[in-house]
Amino acid sequence: MELGEQYKEFGISKAVYHFGEEILTALRPRFAQIDETAEYNQLKVIRAMQTANVSEACLLGTTGYGYNDLGRDTLEKVYAHVFQTEDALVRPQITCGTHALALALMSNLRPGDELLSPVGKPYDTLEEVIGIRPSRGSLAEYGVTYRQVDLLPDGRFDYEGIRAAIGEKTRLVTIQRSKGYQTRPTLSVARIGELTAFVKSIKPDVLVMVDNCYGEFVETTEPSQMGADMVVGSLIKNPGGGLAPIGGYIVGEKECVENAACRLTSPGLAKEVGASLGILPAFYQGLFLAPTVTASALKGAIFAANIYEKLGFAVVPDSSESRHDIIQAVTFGSPEGVIAFCEGIQAAAPVDSFVTPEPWDMPGYDAKVIMAAGTFVSGSSIELSADGPIVPPYAVYFQGGLTFPHAKLGILKSLQNLVDKGICRL
Ligand SMILES: *Cc1c(COP(=O)(O)O)cnc(C)c1O
Repeated sequence: MELGEQYKEFGISKAVYHFGEEILTALRPRFAQIDETAEYNQLKVIRAMQTANVSEACLLGTTGYGYNDLGRDTLEKVYAHVFQTEDALVRPQITCGTHALALALMSNLRPGDELLSPVGKPYDTLEEVIGIRPSRGSLAEYGVTYRQVDLLPDGRFDYEGIRAAIGEKTRLVTIQRSKGYQTRPTLSVARIGELTAFVKSIKPDVLVMVDNCYGEFVETTEPSQMGADMVVGSLIKNPGGGLAPIGGYIVGEKECVENAACRLTSPGLAKEVGASLGILPAFYQGLFLAPTVTASALKGAIFAANIYEKLGFAVVPDSSESRHDIIQAVTFGSPEGVIAFCEGIQAAAPVDSFVTPEPWDMPGYDAKVIMAAGTFVSGSSIELSADGPIVPPYAVYFQGGLTFPHAKLGILKSLQNLVDKGICRL
């Protein structure tokens, strides 16, 4: 059976298949660059594992208190090497990205301190962590205040506004690399470096934390190499390589990481406890695969951008601009478009392909959200997934794909669904 016939088995018409093939042919040089970044990062990860002396014994786990857990402690050394930081906290007890970020913030801020976001509104779930939306246990309840400086309309930093917002109380500056559920541009590592340097030139003792979710291994450097004191992310996104079933990381200055460890476990216990149970092989192997998995996801995002831009939809990033995370936003302008796209992604999944995604009130989000995710790890968004809040401008956020062929299938299925429903024409 020919390849085109295989796609036909999935309900993809000749017209949709050929439309995709034409776009892919033009993208080959770009994909070669992505492979080169993956190659660089693969070597970086292997080198880190060798330098930290990863051994077969590291793949075993501990139970109970987890004192002297060789695999856990070595994995944290590996992360510190990869991100070039003094220390790292990489734990299954960190339940998700929001938890990792909340942990980093709550452990490094004290009552009376002020938190500043110089890049606009942070990710939805952080609104409750900070207390922008009043919430039990928020930073606001503990007397930590918050300020925000929005990006300028053209996406540049508002340097004057930032200068004015930094005051005596400013203790920590949070910079979100990825756009999240917004259509602003994602920040490159270089731009994060510029902003970090600017903030530190005004107030040298301020801590800079980067929300690195979806950004890991997209470039050859990470924000920790550009002066950030803490870099934080989720293991069910890029650095878990699709294999980590849970977890988060905080890498950075020794004192920042120590503060986080004291909050995660307990003052006095810090990094000394926290059994790894049987999870370490997935963490090590996931990190090992992360550079090429991230490359696959990136190719999927670029393929989708090129398809939907050609069909006249607004896409962020656009078809040709450089990439700093794996997220692709496509604005459909109608709830039907968002829903049809998500149905197509779901129909291409290896797991739960037969279910129909529907908008629902997700915890932590203030609008109804539709999510398509037929994933091996529940909710994992390094696996092929799409989600969109059902609010204007009706944009869908698409990400992941452990392999490019799967991302390609999902994108073609979504396109077929939109065509079948008359929402777009080739
Ligand atoms: C996903 C994400 C988070 C939150 O991570 P969860 O694992 O979903 O809790 C925070 N910030 C950004 C930019 C994200 O993409």
